[in-house]
Amino acid sequence: MERGRENQVLERILKDRGEVQQASMTFEEFLRDVFFSNPKKYSRGAHRYLVDAIESYGNDEKGNLKFFEGKIFGADHQVRELYELLKSAAMGNDVKRRIILLVGPVGTAKSTTVYHFKRLLEEYSRTEEGEIYAIDGCPLNEDPLHLLSESSRQELRKEYGIQVEGQLCPVCSYRLRENYQGDISKVRVKRIFLSESDRVGIATFAPGDPNTQDLSDIVGSINIYTIQREGKGDPAHPLSWSFTGAAFQSNRGIFEFIELFKAKRELLNALLTLAQERQVKPGRFNMIYVDAVILAHTNYTEYNRFISEPGTEAIRDRTRVVEWKYVLNPYEEEKVYKLMIPNIAEYDMDPWSLKYPAFLAVLSRLSDPEDREFPAQVRLKIYSGEKVEGLSEYAISTVYKKFEADGRSGLSPRWVVDQINLIQVKRGYVATPDLIAHFSDLLPKVLGEKQASIIRPLAVNRYNEYVKSLLSEVVVSDFESLAQSYFDRYRAMVRSFRANEKVYVPSTGEWREPDEEFMRSLESLIGINSPSEASVFRTNFLVAIGEIAERGEKISWRSHKKIEEAIRAMIIKEHKSLLRAALVSRGISEEADRTYEKIVQRLIKDHGYSENTAKRLLEYAGELVNYT
Ligand SMILES: [Zn+2]
Repeated sequence: MERGRENQVLERILKDRGEVQQASMTFEEFLRDVFFSNPKKYSRGAHRYLVDAIESYGNDEKGNLKFFEGKIFGADHQVRELYELLKSAAMGNDVKRRIILLVGPVGTAKSTTVYHFKRLLEEYSRTEEGEIYAIDGCPLNEDPLHLLSESSRQELRKEYGIQVEGQLCPVCSYRLRENYQGDISKVRVKRIFLSESDRVGIATFAPGDPNTQDLSDIVGSINIYTIQREGKGDPAHPLSWSFTGAAFQSNRGIFEFIELFKAKRELLNALLTLAQERQVKPGRFNMIYVDAVILAHTNYTEYNRFISEPGTEAIRDRTRVVEWKYVLNPYEEEKVYKLMIPNIAEYDMDPWSLKYPAFLAVLSRLSDPEDREFPAQVRLKIYSGEKVEGLSEYAISTVYKKFEADGRSGLSPRWVVDQINLIQVKRGYVATPDLIAHFSDLLPKVLGEKQASIIRPLAVNRYNEYVKSLLSEVVVSDFESLAQSYFDRYRAMVRSFRANEKVYVPSTGEWREPDEEFMRSLESLIGINSPSEASVFRTNFLVAIGEIAERGEKISWRSHKKIEEAIRAMIIKEHKSLLRAALVSRGISEEADRTYEKIVQRLIKDHGYSENTAKRLLEYAGELVNYT
């Protein structure tokens, strides 16, 4: 690294620490110099603060929240629902007094989402927009506005439409009396930076073993060190209490409660009070006001078990559930895997080694895979955002309702990624054919024989289609121009044939009858055999191409899916002997070896393969192509 750059990095690193030292000010200075410059900004509650932080990223052209971009995949619906709940809470609605419960199987983006919220608050509180203040020395980092009397609060409400909620905590009340003789203007106030590790504004709580769960983890406990010295031996003295509970840490930000229903009733009740009353009750003290967004998570099994128990109405009543399902779009699922393999750049993977497992995983999540109307392969297409011929928008919209259970169970992304890692470690590269074999062994054990036998061929078919189309591209050196010339020829023939005209052949300069034989042979490759079928197909082809031209788009051989498929099949058919030689009879003739080597090189150069994965692909393809 050059010296100048090093200095720049060093400077940035040191600047990052600049926030640690923040001079405190008096409450009077805070009101005059900070608060009145922007009263709305400095009176935000926890829900508003989080929503503002999310919105600070803005929206993309489609109106999606940019904050989630590249962080959460295939969960647009859930993310939107969660955001809307938070927004409603920020506006002061009742949701503010609810536990927001994310329910879903393990390995969905529930915890990832909360994780990103927590990092977001840390980041946002370090920006100018996210500036936030607290009473200096308050164990809860409480809002300085809590110092205001009821009449001052009423005035703020009238003048600025600001609602100040919550009373001073016992420690601050005590200090106001003892240290400041009741003069609020002198109380020290400072800017704070939310931080999970510093226990400021962010708390994560996992109940763990029921035998060791203790209410003090949430509400704190008697402080045996200060009770004598500062609390004068009185357990009800504010300085006798240790405000280390998660509830206090979460004040101003987020309280994340993992595995909610593993908690004992006593803890759940404390959390309910925190949500409903926005207060906690530690020991012998009065209620203490806490302002936090409560985000809890759990899985279906625990959730269903809990709600079927008697006496749980209160918690159901005070909970807003966001159902978090597995990703159902394989392309989004693939992005999830990419995020889950941090050192992916060091992996030697072929272009399908994340796609194949993604297809398999999504298929495993489909309920009733043999449904008559919408079997698994059809839903796979719908969820992928692919066109399904003969299905209206309306029919597609009913799928989401009918198959509500899709995404509630199946392979978890974590398990899938573990398998991919295993193959990389074992072989030094990840080739899809090896993954196919590996998953074929495991699936019956994980999903059961029946489901495995239904979904495996569906995923393998998708891969085989890809392999065939890839072979058509690598078997010849000038694939693109060959494919284009077939397309142009077909289009010209169809046109002249319909108009009963001759076709001009530029190479010989003569006019010829349209070559119906060529059209038929191309069409037969996509299953069009009778003259009446062909006639309909040709008309539709011309209409479709005409529409593309009308839109001013470029027409190429890829413009029509069916014809593209036919062209690829034709190229393979015409080069069958070449492929057979290269893939099956290698080592017999020098020419076969040369073709093989050329194909390997094309795979490496143009299609994202390494030598290892290319050779493994061709081994597989050798068994796939029908050479008769
Ligand atoms: Zn306080």
